[in-house]
Amino acid sequence: MSRCQCGSSQAYRFCCQPLHCGDDHASSPGQLMRSRYCAFVEEKAEYLLATHHPQFRGSLTVKQLADSCHESDFVALQIVDAPVATTEQGEVEFKAWYRQGSEIMALWERSRFQKLDDHWHYCDGDIRPPLKLGRNDPCPCGSGKKAKKCCL
Ligand SMILES: [Zn+2]
Ligand SMILES: [Zn+2]
Repeated sequence: MSRCQCGSSQAYRFCCQPLHCGDDHASSPGQLMRSRYCAFVEEKAEYLLATHHPQFRGSLTVKQLADSCHESDFVALQIVDAPVATTEQGEVEFKAWYRQGSEIMALWERSRFQKLDDHWHYCDGDIRPPLKLGRNDPCPCGSGKKAKKCCL
């Protein structure tokens, strides 16, 4: 069984895959965030576009998303804060750790989500300063080891 890349302890086919296939929909902004991170790893560009709120998409295309999925090398997702959402909008703060050369960096963002046609969509977010993983930091993959003895 391969565990879902979103960091849950479930198999992909019981976790983010039903969302990526359109068989199910995220029930909260936190779940949508995890499934979108997972879509980057699994290169599900169409899902990324479909779950991006049309009013906030700008000129974003499936091709651009596919390229950025392909170019990024994500290591782990850390949800920092996911307050209980209202029925129509919510926020999630996360750190998405990725490999860049010999270093592991994090995209750190507080994202806004809104419901449209009864389904959660990503709107936009406030990007925090980039983070660099220290050699002695706990590894973000959740192994419990120091980064230098694990993914770094
Ligand atoms: Zn998942
Ligand atoms: Zn690790």
